[in-house]
Amino acid sequence: MPQETKTPDKFTIINELARRRGFFWQSYEIYGGAAGFPTYGPLGAKLKQNIERKLRELFVTRLGILEMESPVVTPGRVFEASGHIDHFKEPMVECQKCKKRFRADHLLEEFTKISESEAEKMSLNELKAAIKKHEIRCPECGGAFGEPKLFLTMFQTTIGPYSEAIAYGRPEAAQGIFVEFKRLYEIAREKLPFGVLQTGHALRNEISPRQGLIRLREFTITDLEFFYDPEEPDCYLLKDVENEKLRLVLAENRLRNSEKIVEMTVKKALGKGYIKAEWQAVFMAYAKKLLIDLNVPAEKQRFIEKLPWERAHYSLQTFDQQAYVERWGWVEVSGHACRADYDLKRHMEFSGEDMRVYKECEKPIEKEQLKINPIMSKLGPAFKNEAANVAQMLSKTNPEEVEASIRKKGFYKLGKYKILPEHIEIKHEKTVEHGRRFIPYVVEPSLGSDRLLYVALEYAYKRKKDRAILSFPRDIAPLQLGVYPLVSKDGLPAKTLELKELLADEGFVTEYDEAGSIGRRYARADEIGIPLGITVDYETLNDNTVTVRDRDSWKQVRSPISDLPTLLHKYFRWKVNFDDLGKPFKS
Ligand SMILES: [Zn+2]
Repeated sequence: MPQETKTPDKFTIINELARRRGFFWQSYEIYGGAAGFPTYGPLGAKLKQNIERKLRELFVTRLGILEMESPVVTPGRVFEASGHIDHFKEPMVECQKCKKRFRADHLLEEFTKISESEAEKMSLNELKAAIKKHEIRCPECGGAFGEPKLFLTMFQTTIGPYSEAIAYGRPEAAQGIFVEFKRLYEIAREKLPFGVLQTGHALRNEISPRQGLIRLREFTITDLEFFYDPEEPDCYLLKDVENEKLRLVLAENRLRNSEKIVEMTVKKALGKGYIKAEWQAVFMAYAKKLLIDLNVPAEKQRFIEKLPWERAHYSLQTFDQQAYVERWGWVEVSGHACRADYDLKRHMEFSGEDMRVYKECEKPIEKEQLKINPIMSKLGPAFKNEAANVAQMLSKTNPEEVEASIRKKGFYKLGKYKILPEHIEIKHEKTVEHGRRFIPYVVEPSLGSDRLLYVALEYAYKRKKDRAILSFPRDIAPLQLGVYPLVSKDGLPAKTLELKELLADEGFVTEYDEAGSIGRRYARADEIGIPLGITVDYETLNDNTVTVRDRDSWKQVRSPISDLPTLLHKYFRWKVNFDDLGKPFKS
């Protein structure tokens, strides 16, 4: 039989490289593996930490967002309030023959021309009809499917040995912030606006995840909840990013079946009302910059506006930031939702705690108010022993209505009672308000570490002269420096280990490697994406200089060891370039 040779796609290449070099692989391999759970090896764990560090640098260090950490296990009541118990469900079908279960909407997307958005909109009955019409059978065994059902995609557990104490693994990190809002607001010195973020594990019991790091049952999420006064929605950071261009796929175009990308500045998108909240637009601009820092060019990114039926139940407007990957096309890497006052309002209803904030007005506001006062000396004779009841009912009426009716008709009908002008006193009272109580609005950028990591890997992957290079941006590379003795004899290893210690003292993440020829060691370092290699040779023993090699250009420079710490700190903070690290050197 002729052998079919197909060039593997990047998804296959990255997953193979990731397994072999220790970035990530499927968990529980020795027991046959569990779909939707990744294990990160030494390089992957470090890469993930570095990407998360970049998020922190952006949001916590630069923007002053507060960071917190709350539990994964969450009492059921919290998700009743948040609406997850009612809404966090996906349609599922079961094969009658082999009993395998699948996401009904995903099957339709895979085997028909029905789009993701159309499939998501379908009711259970519509899904059933479409599966029948397109004669979709089980991809595993060809069996027929049963009735579609809804499946709650949260992991359920109990707290302690009490079967009634139902809890769930959080499917997002946001609720942990909302339920602690009162304390967080105090910590933020009771001032709006302010933001809180947390990065942590979240669980979604996906029905049949089959896309590697793109669709996981356990993953790391960063949810940032930014609280602001809906009457003061201006964003003081807008100036910094208003000219940043965003590539938008607008809902109005999607409704006409077009995924046309319109490119415009943040300022224009806000001016035209395409993005409703200033804060949301600003976070979208930061998310774009973050992806550029991960080497995803602007033209491989877009923001797609969710249609009403695609949006989460809490959202007024949502844009998904997507990056283009070879196998899966556009995949979501961050979501930008305007949650308004939904969550705090719901927790206020369900917990009975007042989640409102009080804000003093700059100037007290004078208001004129109409008041109806019953005159008991007149009500008594008129209504006898029902007079108290009438007075009570009057207190609940709308004073404007009473006044208007009396002015027009000469009386006011209060249930079965007829109120005459002499029964009441109509007063215009002046009141002064010093502040107001309200529930803050929230915009939420939400970013997935695992997807960002996959995207960063795919965009780092290059080939040069038959060699694979992971060309990570220097500040996220899992290992910063490789240090090598030219040969493993004549005192070179000892000198190299001394250098490694010096660099480790300076905080650099360094790997020592003396196995095989120097060429093979460089090749391995390129494949795992170490930005710089430092080689100790015989000359080093005389003059304390070393060769520094660039992963991407393979250029080399010669530098004194004593200059290295300062230069390297600058290099990894993007303050100097490779050529600034020493004098040009030809090996
Ligand atoms: Zn089957």
